[in-house]
Amino acid sequence: MRLGRLAALALALALVASLTGAASARDPRWVFYSQDKTYYTSPWFQGAHRIMIPFGCTTAPYYSPDSRCRDDNGFHHGIDIAMPCGTPLYAGVRLRVMSHASLGSAYGDNPVLLRNRKLGFDLVVGHTRKVYVQPGDKVKKGTMFARANDRGAPDGCHLHFEKRAVGGGLSTAVKPRELLKLTPRETSQ
Ligand SMILES: [Zn+2]
Repeated sequence: MRLGRLAALALALALVASLTGAASARDPRWVFYSQDKTYYTSPWFQGAHRIMIPFGCTTAPYYSPDSRCRDDNGFHHGIDIAMPCGTPLYAGVRLRVMSHASLGSAYGDNPVLLRNRKLGFDLVVGHTRKVYVQPGDKVKKGTMFARANDRGAPDGCHLHFEKRAVGGGLSTAVKPRELLKLTPRETSQ
């Protein structure tokens, strides 16, 4: 009887936590390959979230060994920001939507390829499922163009944000952090 009550209490507390807490948004598949525990906001996504895998050489096991990296480590061509499945993604600048046909399966079955010729970059947004724009569309700054998901990602829902040269392939990927405009979340939030 007592055990039953405790179990009921625990269940009730868990329910309350799941209804009220942001902690409930944590995806059990997330593994963080960064010491940075800061929650960041960005014009590119809703809410405040942590970096899961930074750009560059990483011990994360999802990437082939790369000659740029020590100890057979792989190279991550973007920044991964862990966020709950369905988190809205916004255009941080004006963009043109390109065909994602050239991207291959590593980014999932419905990633987004975006371009800003004036600023001189292509942007790969990986692992999306719901995408609200089509190739040829012009996307205004601030427009929600997709939602984060886990398509093609073994490590849960996240935003893969990858900056490339215009028309360039994977080998032209550069640090995307400045474009992503991460800002530490205010402590009052
Ligand atoms: Zn990634």
